[in-house]
Amino acid sequence: MTTTIIMTMTIIMTMTIITIIPIITNMTIITNMTIINAIAIITITMSITGNIMTAATITAKSTTMTNAMMTTIMTTTMTTTMITIIIMATTTIMTTIMIMTTIINTMTTIVRTAINTTNAMTTTISTMTTTVTMIMTVTIMTTTVTMIMTVIIMTTTVTMTMITAMMITISIMTTTMTTTMTTTMTTTMTTTMTTTMTTTIVTTMKTMIIVTLMAVTGLTVADNLPEVPPRTLGSCVGIRPEHCSFDCFRCIAPDDVFTCPLLSQTFDDGPGPATPKLLDHLPGKTTFFTQGINVVRFPDIFRLQNDQGHLLASHTWSHAHLAELSNEEVVAQIQWSIWAMNATAGIIPKFFRPPYGAGDNRIRAISRQFGLISVFWDRDTFDWMVSEGGKTAEDVYDDVRQWKWEQPQGLILEHDSTIDGVNVGIRVAEILDTDRQMTVADCINSQWYQDLPQWLVPE
Ligand SMILES: [Zn+2]
Repeated sequence: MTTTIIMTMTIIMTMTIITIIPIITNMTIITNMTIINAIAIITITMSITGNIMTAATITAKSTTMTNAMMTTIMTTTMTTTMITIIIMATTTIMTTIMIMTTIINTMTTIVRTAINTTNAMTTTISTMTTTVTMIMTVTIMTTTVTMIMTVIIMTTTVTMTMITAMMITISIMTTTMTTTMTTTMTTTMTTTMTTTMTTTIVTTMKTMIIVTLMAVTGLTVADNLPEVPPRTLGSCVGIRPEHCSFDCFRCIAPDDVFTCPLLSQTFDDGPGPATPKLLDHLPGKTTFFTQGINVVRFPDIFRLQNDQGHLLASHTWSHAHLAELSNEEVVAQIQWSIWAMNATAGIIPKFFRPPYGAGDNRIRAISRQFGLISVFWDRDTFDWMVSEGGKTAEDVYDDVRQWKWEQPQGLILEHDSTIDGVNVGIRVAEILDTDRQMTVADCINSQWYQDLPQWLVPE
């Protein structure tokens, strides 16, 4: 507002001066000069005003980000304009004062000359010629300065307009880039969220299935099962020491059983038709890890084992390689095995040996839910190779004699599912030459079986 008032006052003063001077002096040269000045000032003022209005319109349409820049440009333009006008006005005033002073001095000289000298016409003409020359010089200088100022202002205006155009271009580019980036980010976020939601839903559904199974089978804790990558038989790809795999790392958990104070036999995979022969020859109590499917096929043999006081334990329902099964499938393998043993002989096993020794922290976590203790071994006879021709029975006996001589402790792995396995087992029992073998439960001084639920115990 103050700037506008100063500009207006300056313009009015300038116009007044350059209008009055020709009337007072009545000199054609000065009139021409002032008209040129006036036209230049009006033209420049109109040009700058137009540019400022254009800049203001563009600013109003541009984004918030460029507003500050546009305001700066407008302020700079207006300040430049004001300074230019003040300079031009000052120049014009000074020029006018100089011209008027010269005119007055000249007139005084002419009057004095006319009074004092009657024949001084030559001098007067000479003086007047000098005066006119001075006036013309001043006029040319003023006009030149005005022209230079005009060029500077026009150049400034053009530069400001170009800067404004660049700002608008940058603004448009920024808006476009922002839109593109927002679209990309939204797409990425949507994809990530979809994937996460799918994973969550699948995990939740799996958890619900396990919870349901646990509830059906009487288990109380369903979650927090360790995650171990599934693997095929004989492969340890992706298995790390912290998974505590017995077959991959010979890893033993604190609650596992894998050895015994006395060198003791254990028999897996039965019961089978050859099992009764073994029962007839064993000197004492031993441990059988049975498959549920064989318990159901040979219930009388299973009951005979139980009646003779051997420890019966679980070896899954159908000898599954648990490490490649889902949690639900592992639960099913264990649960069906327990069901078969309970339905056939009224016992609930406390000991469990994963087939192939494929036990890890995930399998342990599930079997613990069933109240089972995982059992492995530290002496392997490889007796199953006798049937397949990879090893002779004598090789097995040599191994057993070596173990007995080295250190008469440990759990021996054998099988009663074939007649060859049974025959080897009988001979091994003879080599050990003792009836002081222990069952797995006795090795750790434990209960043999889990207690029946209170409501199942007879009055
Ligand atoms: Zn087995």
